[in-house]
Amino acid sequence: MVTLKIDIKTLSHTYDIEVLHNLSIQLEGKKAVALLGQSGSGKSTLLRIMAGLEKPTSGEVTINDQAVDDPEYRKAVGFVFQSHNLFPHLTLLDNITLILEKTRGFTKEAAVKCAMSNLEKLKLDDQAHKAPRNVSGGQAQRASIARALSIDPDVIFLDEPTSSLDPILTNDVLNAVEDLRDSGKDFVFATHVMSFVRDFSDYVIFMENGNIIEHGPTEIMDSPKTEAMQSFMAKVR
Ligand code: ADP
Ligand code: MG
Repeated sequence: MVTLKIDIKTLSHTYDIEVLHNLSIQLEGKKAVALLGQSGSGKSTLLRIMAGLEKPTSGEVTINDQAVDDPEYRKAVGFVFQSHNLFPHLTLLDNITLILEKTRGFTKEAAVKCAMSNLEKLKLDDQAHKAPRNVSGGQAQRASIARALSIDPDVIFLDEPTSSLDPILTNDVLNAVEDLRDSGKDFVFATHVMSFVRDFSDYVIFMENGNIIEHGPTEIMDSPKTEAMQSFMAKVR
């Protein structure tokens, strides 16, 4: 069973201005790490850097002892974006088989088998032949989770996967993620759904203005030490 190891050393990131300021954090043996913080605090930037989707301006980031700029690492990462990001002209099934054939060298037959088994895990086997526009937003988002799973990543990154969904569809998607808890995957995610953070995560990192202000086991949400996190928790509770 893999357990997540995160090692971030003096990480800074600049767009037009610096948005992550000299972050360092070492974690080991976590299963699901939540990034908390107001909009603009740097959660998405940090997630993208940890997933190897964006190269940091300076600093070192390794996940499970692999440098995030290693092409092998990048190939093995699952990422679920705020909105589903599926190809609109392909069925849910073909959205998954395409990746497996193109990046994994799967035969068509093996790709279909793998894709269907992951669609099944997300309770979408009966929707496999529909285009994204012909399924609900929750189903499309679950399909993008199935796609992330299908490349068999050790770690899946989720960036506010339910922010475009209504409360019922939000529940669908979050329940589907909870069902994956025992699948041997580890998760790093940002969400505004605090009940999900409490249920699902074993560790939280609270950010403000591009800094890590507080981090610890999920229970720290109930008694934050810093004024910044106290005030954030009071607003989201
Ligand atoms: P969060 O996910 O917590 O809302 P982000 O990581 O998206 O935070 O944003 C952190 C800061 O970086 C914000 O000030 C945002 O405006 C800025 N930012 C994010 N992405 C870009 C980008 N591609 N170009 C310029 N600025 C960006
Ligand atoms: Mg964000």
